[in-house]
Amino acid sequence: MWRRGVAVILLGLALVERATAVSFEEERELGRQFALEARAQLPLISDPDVVGYVEGVGQRVARMLEGSFFEYHFFVVRDAGINAFAVPGGYVYVHSGLLGRVANEDELAAVLAHEIGHVHAHHLARQMEATKLLNYATLVGLLASVVQPAVGALATAANTATQLSYQRQFEQEADYLGVRYIQAAGYDPHGVLDFFKTLADDQRSVPTAAAPYLRSHPVTDERLNHLEAVLRTQQWADHPRRPKSLALRRAQAVARIRSEPPADVVAAYRSAVAAAPNDPETRFLFGVVCMEAGEFEAARGALLAAGTAGVTAAGREMGRLALRTREPQAARAALRDAVAADPSDAAAWSELGKACELLGDTAAALDAYRRAVSIAPDLETTQYDLGNLAGRSGSEADGFFHLAAAARLRGEYGSALSQYTRAAGLLPAGDPRADEAREWTKTLSQFLHVRIPEIPARGAANGQGTPQSDSPGRP
Ligand code: ZN
Repeated sequence: MWRRGVAVILLGLALVERATAVSFEEERELGRQFALEARAQLPLISDPDVVGYVEGVGQRVARMLEGSFFEYHFFVVRDAGINAFAVPGGYVYVHSGLLGRVANEDELAAVLAHEIGHVHAHHLARQMEATKLLNYATLVGLLASVVQPAVGALATAANTATQLSYQRQFEQEADYLGVRYIQAAGYDPHGVLDFFKTLADDQRSVPTAAAPYLRSHPVTDERLNHLEAVLRTQQWADHPRRPKSLALRRAQAVARIRSEPPADVVAAYRSAVAAAPNDPETRFLFGVVCMEAGEFEAARGALLAAGTAGVTAAGREMGRLALRTREPQAARAALRDAVAADPSDAAAWSELGKACELLGDTAAALDAYRRAVSIAPDLETTQYDLGNLAGRSGSEADGFFHLAAAARLRGEYGSALSQYTRAAGLLPAGDPRADEAREWTKTLSQFLHVRIPEIPARGAANGQGTPQSDSPGRP
């Protein structure tokens, strides 16, 4: 049986070799352009507690790849459907509905690892090459077929779209690669089987509400047998499912409140508290969803009770709550504790920056914002706040650079292009951000089908006042 596994891998490698007609660089560029389109068209969740969590799991898996050709990026689509997909070049998308359905981190890792397997083995390139379909238009068409009905604008392209479904051999290979990756990353390889069984049970109980993921990944007996065989031949002993971590439960709660009517989500968590009145973590999550729903008094009560009962994360949430109830002093104190406890907490740095800005401490605010975006570069609001504050405090180059990033993250590429152009002209030579700004002017020009702008000589863009004037569409 072990030989069969080896045979699958060798077959995989042989096919990878054959895929050279589409270069890795072309795949990477397709992915980059696709990610820009998706950013502009798809409702993406930006909360670091959600995206950072998924990113953390995904990167832990991606680190296990030998000889990776791509950098991996993970996104969470605000859509209650159970779905996940990846496009060439390392861009992996998970719908909030799927995130909400996994029972533990092993299952999420399994889904991400399967998608990483498709990317790493160049499945789409290999499959589409056979039909000469791999081009940008087809990819956008695929996106439309995948994300309906989450997105309206792209739906028109769906008529001509090929379903994003792989040939059976590629699915088997991705399953096989996926379990190897998650096992190497220290996750339970049975997570994949557990999650498929959950989806299959869902489908049996409500056949009409089949998850979109099941349409592209049918859970056939053949597939389950194959997976079970892989697990057995590797002698990975079965063991009980791991419990859900608080980090996952919080990511699920926040993702849900971004995807469903907030009042419904608050009601669901209120019922959960009633069902488990002695579970402080459930009370904590109720506090979090109340805060996100703007029910600050209920949030305060729940978070205080959770904190008293020993949920240490409650202190950080109290700091975030204080910011929302306009108590910046209290917010600053609690958020300083939070970043001292976990210096990689991007959301806490970002909100600490806000509290410092409200208190008039510009230097501390700039420092906190910078730390936030260095951990989570996709934090649009923080890029915007940082750009504004830097511009106002006399650092135009910085201001334009971060406002450009904010505009790009909102999908306002024309505005981003002009701001990156100005930043590139102002940033000192040798500053890596100058190169990054130049790189973005190229990528965005290509995306917008315009000529790459000339970078003005250093100093030419001075005297424009605060860069805020270049940022339309914001109060
Ligand atoms: Zn697949």
